[in-house]
Amino acid sequence: IEEAGFTPASRIAAIGVSKILQIGARAAAMKKDGLPVIILGAGEPDFDTPDTIKAAAKAAIDRGDTKYTALDGTPELKKAIAEKFRRENNVDYALDEITVATGAKQILFNAFMATVNPGDEVIIPTPYWTSYSDIVEICGGVPVLIPCDAEAGFRLKAEQLEKAITPKTRWVLLNSPSNPSGAAYSETDYRPLLDVLLNHPHVWLMVDDMYEHIVYDGFRFVTPVAIEPRLKSRTLTINGVSKAYAMTGWRIGYAGGPKALIKAMAVIQSQATSCPSSVSQAASVEALNGPQDFLKERQASFKHRRDLVVSALNAIPGLACRTPEGAFYTFSGCAGVIGKVTPKGKRIEADSDFTDYLLEDAHVAVVPGSAFGLSPYFRISYATSEAELTEALKRIADACAKLV
Ligand code: PLP
Repeated sequence: IEEAGFTPASRIAAIGVSKILQIGARAAAMKKDGLPVIILGAGEPDFDTPDTIKAAAKAAIDRGDTKYTALDGTPELKKAIAEKFRRENNVDYALDEITVATGAKQILFNAFMATVNPGDEVIIPTPYWTSYSDIVEICGGVPVLIPCDAEAGFRLKAEQLEKAITPKTRWVLLNSPSNPSGAAYSETDYRPLLDVLLNHPHVWLMVDDMYEHIVYDGFRFVTPVAIEPRLKSRTLTINGVSKAYAMTGWRIGYAGGPKALIKAMAVIQSQATSCPSSVSQAASVEALNGPQDFLKERQASFKHRRDLVVSALNAIPGLACRTPEGAFYTFSGCAGVIGKVTPKGKRIEADSDFTDYLLEDAHVAVVPGSAFGLSPYFRISYATSEAELTEALKRIADACAKLV
């Protein structure tokens, strides 16, 4: 930017590109140079988009659905979303309480952009998905990060929430199942938090349910508005098709919330991207309305891989991994390797030194806990083949054994 003669917009430039994308780019460059790098960094299912969904997109193109659509979602997609909320979540959203955007990331961006003034506080439990705090900062808000470690099940407690609320708090952001920890809130976990919010009418609740379809061991997913309808008038319920339907590149996210907020979010969208892709919207109608049986199969495949990764990690001295309830990530503690020295004589002072060591010496790309606001941990995305996972975990075990 400076080379081009501009003065950088420093507040935004300082935030930089998502740390997960940075690590992915570094690992991809090493791979291009011929190094046998295994990348366990990306939060992306390794399945293909189901054929029925692809067929719906092709039909949309043939039908001529290639023009601008209604600004924040076609009526057909909003109807499919309303039905999905009713059928799967037991929540009623009218069509004017629903908005569609170019991914759940843009939903978050629209919502914060429409509501956060400079100095407004947003409570975010850590570890959190990296974009949460960055988006809040881009909007001039103040992320208030509350540490929730493995011992706490990576879940926020009511006392912590109560203590963090100030007159400047505008939002609390909860994500279940979580990226990066895989931890999920049951109805019992949510209840005390919702009780705290009932006592603070100026605080709004944003919930990110992106991983609702990827849960294990009979865990019952529930969204807060279904538990506490009195919070519906100040809750934004976010979801999308990226993870459940293996549609990360189609870029469709959606949310249900109060009419005035939904309208304000559409204003932001109108000045940013206009409508989301017409073809992806048509495909998403099929995703939400069409056959859902593959979800169970994919869930079973992820569970198999979760078990493989968790048991391999827990067999490595120095690491400790809590069994996640959902999503396709493990967030393993690595306190036992801090202070150790690598064969090249480098002391591991922080989780990012450990993940650098794994990338450089073992050629395994994982993301340090510091990228998600909680150390010392590291995240593995296990949405990759069992053969690659097995090889990567063997390399991690060998690398740990070489530390002194
Ligand atoms: N929320 C969480 C917790 C995520 O992990 C992600 C993507 O990694 C998103 C939202 C964004 O999803 P989308 O692809 O719909 O923008």
